[in-house]
Amino acid sequence: MTIPEDNEDDINLYEVAELKQYTIDEINDILKVIVPGLYPSWRTNQLEVVQQIINSNKKYIGIQAPPGFGKSGSAIGELIASGGRGITVTQTKQLGDQYYRDFYQLGLQTVKGRGNFSCTIIPDKTAADAPCVAGMKCLFKRGGCEYYDQKRQAVDSKLVSMNIHYFLNEANYSGEFSDVDTIFIDEAQKLDSSMLSFIEVRLNYSRFSDEGKPIPKDLSINSLKEWSDSTIGTIKSELDQVLEELEQNPQNEILTVRGIRLKAAYNSLLRFEIVDETWIIEQEENNVILKPTLVGKYMEKFLFQHAKRIIFMSATLPRSIIEGFNVVDYEYINLPSTFDPEKRPVIWIPAANLAQSAKDPGVELKRLTLTVDALLNRYPDQKGIIHTVNYKIANHLMENSENTNRLRTHINAKERAEVLRDFSSNQLDNNVLVSPSFTEGVDLPYDLCRFQLICKIPYDSLANKQIKARMEIDSQWYATNAIVTMVQAYGRAMRAEDDSGITYILDSSLMNLIKRWRPVFDQVSYFLDALWIQESNPGQPSKLTSFAEFQQKNYKVNSRN
Ligand code: SF4
Repeated sequence: MTIPEDNEDDINLYEVAELKQYTIDEINDILKVIVPGLYPSWRTNQLEVVQQIINSNKKYIGIQAPPGFGKSGSAIGELIASGGRGITVTQTKQLGDQYYRDFYQLGLQTVKGRGNFSCTIIPDKTAADAPCVAGMKCLFKRGGCEYYDQKRQAVDSKLVSMNIHYFLNEANYSGEFSDVDTIFIDEAQKLDSSMLSFIEVRLNYSRFSDEGKPIPKDLSINSLKEWSDSTIGTIKSELDQVLEELEQNPQNEILTVRGIRLKAAYNSLLRFEIVDETWIIEQEENNVILKPTLVGKYMEKFLFQHAKRIIFMSATLPRSIIEGFNVVDYEYINLPSTFDPEKRPVIWIPAANLAQSAKDPGVELKRLTLTVDALLNRYPDQKGIIHTVNYKIANHLMENSENTNRLRTHINAKERAEVLRDFSSNQLDNNVLVSPSFTEGVDLPYDLCRFQLICKIPYDSLANKQIKARMEIDSQWYATNAIVTMVQAYGRAMRAEDDSGITYILDSSLMNLIKRWRPVFDQVSYFLDALWIQESNPGQPSKLTSFAEFQQKNYKVNSRN
């Protein structure tokens, strides 16, 4: 491989990848030239993954890389080595921040949202509440606006990181990031729900009433489509008029607020173009929300068409998740865990049945609480997490556990960050987090979390109409989501090669779930490799049996390896 001496930036391996298969040494040489000193020591398999992606002729690649693999290192290494224009897209802010911290020295640019910058025209407003959001043309976009200045740097960069909501908005509306070589979608297990919230149509009752176009009482798809057709023209001409006035008087805050509201209303009505009979209608106090039952068919239009190559990555990425994006022809890389299973055991104690169908939920909650207390007493000096899946179980434990002095919880999503911050600030106490929402995006290494209890299989709530409708069409999707969330929660216990942590699953239905969806579990086999069953027989001390031994004794299951 010859590197052009004075213009390394022009290397784009994709343009020649079909002609050549690169060796590890060649890729290493390329990286040494482009970013000398990068990656002094690769972790196990990281460089092999870079090679596999570069040499693949598939547009879509799925990578399942268990915790500790260092998938962000492979992603950035691949983007630098291939030399094209690349974007890493994250689903959560925490991971986006981590990408920037780890790789800004290698030239990774990040784009922050409008809310982080002041507007030059109305300095006491952020760029998120500025007149340009309504569509007003502003000369400062070309220079002198903090938000657009940093965005321009990212647009000009070949290596950028941003969150999925920002990417979808930019690629589909401004078109700035819509022609890239590669998009790495990290935390891809959450892509489906990110896309759902991007394409849903949210209609605010008072907004349309104020414009003399109230939302009809008949909330059927046909009636809403007719109403949308007859409303969009009015909203557009009101918006045009406000924009005209704003251009004369750009500091007018009242006009700005009205313009932004009209623009949001107009965008919602434009989205009716893709609404069809299969969409679900939900009502909130102030809004009507339309959501598609299946999200996969919109991936091409809103996401995949914006890049030559799409790489999905996650610690838990069974094939059915990728196929749920309507992707058929793809390469699948399933990496083994490098963490010793003995340092990350997961123990099933069938303590309680907390399914909605349980005959006596009160008795089941009592059983759960007794087991939780027994386990908390087993770790009197250590910190841990209790994953409750819902607030009902969290509240029950807070009110009935004999260890409430150790338990720390939050009553809503807003308090969550504060509770986590307090919890993380002290390694030495024996506090235990009790929460339905710490299954993902939480990094509590070493003494910050030595044990975890998963009270219930984390199925999505069927009170959500969209989830219920989709489950009725695709029960595998529903089960896969629960499995992925459970395995993600399991991944909180051990965060590094020299870390260790034990996880207990207390839901009595775990083994039925494994039997029913064994092919999905086989794709996250690092979970099964560490699974033990605590069997207790009357009058005898309980004993642990490995999953391999347990299934030989109890089940004939068809596994797909
Ligand atoms: S482009 Fe103009 S209106 Fe928009 S945030 Fe910047 S200065 Fe404000």
